[in-house]
Amino acid sequence: MKNIKDYNLEELKEELKALGEKPFRAEQIFKWLYIDKVKEFDEMTNLSLELREKLKQNYTMCNYNIIKKQESSDGTKKYLFDVLDGNAIETVLMQYHHGKTICVSCQIGCKMGCKFCASTGIKFVRSLTSGEIVEQILAVEQDIGDKISNIVFMGIGEPLDNYDNVIKAIRIINNPKGLNIGARHISVSTSGLVPRIYDLAKENIQCTLSISLHATNNEKRSSMMPVNNRYNIEELIKACKDYIKITNRRISFEYALAKDNNDNLEDAKELVKLLKGMLCHVNLIPINKIENGKFSKSSNENIMKFRDYLNDHGIVATIRRELGSDIDAACGQLRRKNLENE
Ligand code: SAH
Repeated sequence: MKNIKDYNLEELKEELKALGEKPFRAEQIFKWLYIDKVKEFDEMTNLSLELREKLKQNYTMCNYNIIKKQESSDGTKKYLFDVLDGNAIETVLMQYHHGKTICVSCQIGCKMGCKFCASTGIKFVRSLTSGEIVEQILAVEQDIGDKISNIVFMGIGEPLDNYDNVIKAIRIINNPKGLNIGARHISVSTSGLVPRIYDLAKENIQCTLSISLHATNNEKRSSMMPVNNRYNIEELIKACKDYIKITNRRISFEYALAKDNNDNLEDAKELVKLLKGMLCHVNLIPINKIENGKFSKSSNENIMKFRDYLNDHGIVATIRRELGSDIDAACGQLRRKNLENE
């Protein structure tokens, strides 16, 4: 059955027309879905019983079941959602002083193969639809009874490898008639699919683009991230510079520090050379060791030295706060799950 949350407002109007209904009904339904956030068609009380029946026959509401919920000592929550086809995905809620952030997944599995990430190595199943992406937010909001202020596309999957659905989800999240979360409160992280970075630049969405850089030369980056064999650092940086020129938006570079791999001052020096003069920010992530992974976390001392070197040389750098690592909810710890093994 079709998922009613897979349509943007314009498409929903077309759907309603095809059912012989007036397009303004779509506006009403949209409001029920994203403002009132109801869970059943029968709660849409300004629609006739007949229309509600028609909707029930033609569409599902895609309400996720929570299979498992874990809470970290720092307040981070990790949800395992049943995506209703036998697969399950993880979504994380992080609580900061300035508000609540949800880290959403966009694919069941991931094709990118980054050597340090737990989402690698498990079979890729499929991309999520836009409705399945947005549902993660609705389901978490319902569970906590509170509104979310920020969304990061940093869960399982590569957002730019599911481009159309991710863009559609962002527009629904951002739409004042949808979830009404400001574009500046939405971040999309990519391992570096260069052609799609150019596409994103043209979308005219004011969201933040994060680039998983992690290394400053091709040999090292390719050994960590196979995608670098397709789009190397030079092409990636060129795309970023063009992105900044087109959008006038600052890019955030993610750099996961792994001990004796990419964390010494030579690397910091190369990073300064690479990013000098760009409108950007560097987000340093203490790497989380994964099962059987060869990369382990840098010492706190090295992480701070690395940050200080960047800051002293004109590159704004901060260390990402580690949240939820005790429940495997931190960066790189999310994985696709089968319902059978939960
Ligand atoms: N596919 C997207 C989103 C993935 S996750 C991307 O590659 O950007 C968000 C961030 O977590 C990325 O920067 C990713 O490289 C990083 N990450 C993955 N595994 C990690 C690990 N074990 N420790 C720290 N960061 C990790």
